[in-house]
Amino acid sequence: MFSKILIANRGEIACRVIKTARRLGIRTVAVYSEADAGALHVEMADEAVCIGPAPSAQSYLQADRIIEACLKTGAQAVHPGYGFLSEKASFCEKLKAAGISFIGPDVHAIGAMGDKIESKKLAKAAGVSTVPGYLGVIRDDEEAVRIARDIGYPVMIKASAGGGGKGMRVAWDDAQVRDGFRSASNEARSSFADDRVFIEKYITEPRHIEIQVLADGHGNALYLGERECSIQRRHQKVIEEAPSPFLDEHTRRAMGEQAVALAKAVQYRSAGTVEFIVDKDRNFYFLEMNTRLQVEHPVTEMITGLDLVELMIRGAAGEALPIRQADVKLNGWALEARIYAEEPTRGFLPSIGRVTRYRPPAEGRRPDGTIVRVDTGVVEGGEISMFYDPMIAKLITWGPERASATRAMGAALDAFEIRGVGHNIAFLAALMEKERFRDGRLTTNFIAEEFPDGFHGLTPTESVRQRLLAVALVAQRRAAERDGMVSGQMAFRQPSSEALVARLDRVNHPAVVHWDGNGWAVELDGRHLDVRSDWELGRTLWTGSVGGVPLAVQIERRGTGWVLIHAGATLVVQVLTPRAAELADLMPVKQPPDLSKFLLSPMPGLLVSVSVAPGDTVEAGQELAVVEAMKMENILRADSGGTVKAVRAEKGASLAVDQIIIEFA
Ligand code: ADP
Repeated sequence: MFSKILIANRGEIACRVIKTARRLGIRTVAVYSEADAGALHVEMADEAVCIGPAPSAQSYLQADRIIEACLKTGAQAVHPGYGFLSEKASFCEKLKAAGISFIGPDVHAIGAMGDKIESKKLAKAAGVSTVPGYLGVIRDDEEAVRIARDIGYPVMIKASAGGGGKGMRVAWDDAQVRDGFRSASNEARSSFADDRVFIEKYITEPRHIEIQVLADGHGNALYLGERECSIQRRHQKVIEEAPSPFLDEHTRRAMGEQAVALAKAVQYRSAGTVEFIVDKDRNFYFLEMNTRLQVEHPVTEMITGLDLVELMIRGAAGEALPIRQADVKLNGWALEARIYAEEPTRGFLPSIGRVTRYRPPAEGRRPDGTIVRVDTGVVEGGEISMFYDPMIAKLITWGPERASATRAMGAALDAFEIRGVGHNIAFLAALMEKERFRDGRLTTNFIAEEFPDGFHGLTPTESVRQRLLAVALVAQRRAAERDGMVSGQMAFRQPSSEALVARLDRVNHPAVVHWDGNGWAVELDGRHLDVRSDWELGRTLWTGSVGGVPLAVQIERRGTGWVLIHAGATLVVQVLTPRAAELADLMPVKQPPDLSKFLLSPMPGLLVSVSVAPGDTVEAGQELAVVEAMKMENILRADSGGTVKAVRAEKGASLAVDQIIIEFA
C-alpha cells in the first residue's frame, strides 16, 4: 500500500479523495494554483505544493509540475479526480516514466475511450449496443446535411473530443444541421483544440442512465448498478440518483453485463463509468465510457456501502477486488444535487465572488432514518473564481426508498445557507417539489419542459405560503420587541395580542399575533397556526414548526420587509400595521424601463461576431450576434422583426451582462 499520494485536483473532489486517504492512513499532498492558496483542499492535505498561476492551463493542467511535486514530496501515486488531467493518456505515460502510480486505469484504456468516435467503434466490436449514426469525421456542412438525412431527423451533432456537454447540437432539419455543424465544430476547436464532429440519431425523450464498473488488474470486473442522470440542463447533469426509477432487473443486468464486457475488452482496471442513453421502450445505447471517478459517484457509494476512492487506491496498489458480483447489494435510494455558483433567475449565468456565508446542513443520520452527506470544496470567506468549474458542493441524501430520499433532499436544501455568490439552491429545491420528479417520470428534457420560460422561483402552495407568512409575522414581532429595548427609545410595552398585516405581492393578509405563554400563535386567513422555534434575531436560518409542520426557512431582514426562502420559493413580505397596509395600497408602483428596442448581452462574455449593420432590416429568428461565454458559443437571434438603428458594441469586445449590443429603430 502507498504511504503518500498526491491529488492532482482542487475543490470538492480533492477534499473527497483526501478524506479517504486519511482514513486509510495514507499521507496526502495537495497541489494548488496561486488563486487557491487558501483553498480547503490545501488546508486538509498534509502537504501542499504551488504549481503555478490561476489559469488551469498554467497550473492544474501542467503535468510536468505535478510530477515534480510528486518527486519533491515523495508521493508514490497520483489520484487525478475528474476533469483536468484525469483522462489524459500523456499524463499517465509521464507518470509511468517517472515511476509514479496512476490511481486509475491503464493508459491504453484511457486512450481507447478518450475519443467518442473511436470508443463507439470499439464498443460496437465488443457487442455493446450503440446509437445509430455515422462514425466518420464530417468535412463540411453539406456532408453533414447528407448524413443527417440518411440517419433521419432528429440528429445530434457531437464533437468527437467532446466532454462536459460542449460541442453538441440537436438538429431537426437541414438548416439546423448547417448551423449546428458550424457552432459545434467552433466550440470543439476552442474547447478541445480538435474540431472533428460526427452525427448520430437523436433519441427523443431519452434518459441518461450509466453503469458504474469496477475492475482490478487480476481479471475481475463487476458492475455496481446504475445511476440515472436525466435531470440535465444543456446536457449537463444537475440531479443524479441511484438506482434509476426506470430500470427493471432484466434491463439493469443487460446493461451491467454489456458495461462489463466493454471494460474487459479494454482490460479496464479501477473505477469507470459506461454511459448509456435509454429510450422510452427501455432500449439502451452506449454513449461513452468515462475512465475516471465521476462527479456523481457518491450516490453509488450510498446504496452499495462501498468507498470507490478506497477501491481505486487499493487497485492501483495492486490489490485484487475484495468482492464479486454476487456480493453487490443495492440498498435504498440516493440522490445527489449539484450546487453551482450561478444565477438561475438570470438564465443560469455563472456567478463569481466571495462566499460571505457558507453553512451546509449537518451531515449524518436524521431521526427519520435518512442520511445527509455534503461533499464540499469551499469555505466561508473563500472565493468562487472565474478560472474553474463553478461547482460549490454536492449535496447527497439517502433514504430507504425514493420518496424519503427526495424529502430529505428538500429539507437539506432548505437548510443550506450560501451568501455572497449566486447559487442554484432554490432551483434544486423547486425540482424536488415537482410532481413529475416525485413520480420519477424523467427525461433529459425534464428541465426544459418543466421550466419553459426559465426559472423565476416557485409559487408556493397556499398552505406553505401561510406558514411562511406566519414566520415573517413572528419575526417582525420579535424585531419590534428588540427595537423597544434599545436605550433612548420611548418606553412602550408590546400588547400581548397585536393586529398586523402581512403584505405579499401587493396583497394584504390581515393577521393577529399573540404570545400564548409557551410560544407564538398566529391567526391568519381564518387559520390558527402555532409557531414554535428557538430562532434568534439576526440568524439567517429559521428552523422550527408552524402549525405542527417542521420547517427550515432562510430569512433575512431587508429594508422594512423580510425575505424568506423555502422550497424553491422566495417571498418578500412586508409586515405592517393595518393603517400602514391601507396606505401602502395607495403607493404608486415603479414601472420597469422598456428594453424591447435593444439586444442586450444575456451574460458576461466575448462578442465573437455581429451579423447586422445599421439600416438592416431583420426578421424574427435571424442571427444578430454571437457571444462566447465559458467557452460556449451562444447565437443571439431577433425576437421579432425590425430595423437596426445602431450597433453599440464591437466585435472582440468583452461584454458585461445586460450591456447593449444592438439598438433597433
Ligand atoms: P459529454 O461527454 O459532453 O458529457 P455525452 O455524450 O456524455 O457528452 O452526452 C451528454 C448528454 O447529451 C447525455 O446525457 C444526453 O442527455 C445527451 N445526448 C447525447 N447523445 C444523445 C443522443 N444521441 N440522443 C439524445 N440525447 C443525447
